[in-house]
Amino acid sequence: MSSYDVIIIGSGPGGYVCAIRCAQLGLKVACVEGRETLGGTCLNVGCIPSKALLHASHQLHEAEHNFAKMGLKGKAPSVDWKQMLSYKDEVISGNTSGIEFLFKKNKIGWIKGWASIPEAGKVKVGDDVHEAKNIVIASGSEVSTLPGVEIDEKVVVSSTGALQLGKIPKKLVVIGAGVIGLELGSVYKRLGAEVKVIEFLDAITPGMDAEVAKTFQRTLKKQRLGFQLGAAVQGVEVKNNKAKVTYKLRKDDSEHTEDADCVLVATGRKPFTDGLGLSELGVEMEERGQIKTDAHWATSVKGIYAIGDAITGPMLAHKAEDEGMGVAEVLAGKKGHVNYDVIPGVIYTHPEVASVGATEEQLKQAGRNYKVGKFSFMGNGRAKANFAGDGFVKILADKDTDRILGAHIIGPMAGDLIHEICVAMEFGAAAEDLARTCHAHPTYSEAVREAALACGDGPIHS
Ligand SMILES: Cc1cc2nc3c(=O)[nH]c(=O)nc-3n(C[C@H](O)[C@H](O)[C@H](O)COP(=O)(O)OP(=O)(O)OC[C@H]3O[C@@H](n4cnc5c(N)ncnc54)[C@H](O)[C@@H]3O)c2cc1C
Repeated sequence: MSSYDVIIIGSGPGGYVCAIRCAQLGLKVACVEGRETLGGTCLNVGCIPSKALLHASHQLHEAEHNFAKMGLKGKAPSVDWKQMLSYKDEVISGNTSGIEFLFKKNKIGWIKGWASIPEAGKVKVGDDVHEAKNIVIASGSEVSTLPGVEIDEKVVVSSTGALQLGKIPKKLVVIGAGVIGLELGSVYKRLGAEVKVIEFLDAITPGMDAEVAKTFQRTLKKQRLGFQLGAAVQGVEVKNNKAKVTYKLRKDDSEHTEDADCVLVATGRKPFTDGLGLSELGVEMEERGQIKTDAHWATSVKGIYAIGDAITGPMLAHKAEDEGMGVAEVLAGKKGHVNYDVIPGVIYTHPEVASVGATEEQLKQAGRNYKVGKFSFMGNGRAKANFAGDGFVKILADKDTDRILGAHIIGPMAGDLIHEICVAMEFGAAAEDLARTCHAHPTYSEAVREAALACGDGPIHS
């Protein structure tokens, strides 16, 4: 029997980051992983492969739509789907083996297999039982589907199947207009598929600032993604490798169908805690299946902690990573902390969409006295040069104190630009602090500064 200070179950962004931080802080640590490779959902079937396909398909889009305008003549490249998939697979293995290297470098034990917790202080993998002073559950999440919709990963696929389709479908129906559905829908649209997104709610990307969501939907429509909002999917029938999606419009209960070569079910994910033995241990759970924790990620059973997609909060890799670092610090006797008010969210379509902090709707609902500073990328020289003038930066600040309360960006590199505002918010900055900071020209970041100026006397370039 081997014994450790900490055993982490799951090697996704929550688990592997926690393991590295534990090792850095001098703890003897091992990480159990049931998959063949390290990195969890994010590196194997999530963030990384989806971004590889978004990148490749965006290059094609640029060649088809913008190259000739810049005097780059000739036919746009044709798609070699098999090669694109192997590029994506190489990106995955480069990243997962990178984690393997970091485990070796930090002397982290990698225990291969599926773990259960027979009692606090013990982790069972196969026939072996390992001892640990503390256990961190970072078991992540799995796809959740709808009643009447059976995923076969061939015709009706989850995001995992959508990352390795046998061929590019002629027609793809995406169920769910959330981040994953819109990212993968964009990929296949750019690669030549007809794409129709069916969404239960009356708007896409629930929870997003409404003004940004509206602009985002308009932009995606311009890219010829089709939308059917306010529609409740009743079921999917598969015959001869073709699918028929039946849905009812919520406004009048009328029934409709949509034929497709492939259906992507992107209706969300749910915590994955199967096989850990949590109910036998008496670990308290939230109503929606997450593991209940306190502010320091401790579960109701002493010595057992939980982080990442398996607990409440946004299902995001960087949220899991921050919790991984936080809990490692707590276990090493330090004061681990995550500021849940400043967790950015990004959609990696083109243009990108990024947000942090409160939306305008949340501020209204809370009765806050706020002001809005907005700046369009049309007024940004770099964006105009790069055919990226669509979109805007919107900063929300307290009307009395000028403190930044939230920011929402749709436009080029929004996912990178948002971090300047995250840092500002961490330091409790006012919009004027951003506005008075010199920004290099010509950069997209100048649009952030202009939006901050718009919270005061007004932007320069509009
Ligand atoms: C298509 C897609 C795209 C995404 N894109 C983004 C993005 O761009 N940005 C972003 O922030 N997030 C993205 N996400 C979400 C992100 O992947 C998750 O939020 C993140 O992976 C959660 O990390 P985690 O460590 O909690 O769990 P996971 O990454 O799910 O890892 C959990 C690991 O635990 C292992 N495990 C579970 N139970 C056991 C057990 N009993 N024994 C041993 N091992 C076990 C699993 O095999 C898994 O490898 C995406 C997700 C998907 C599906």
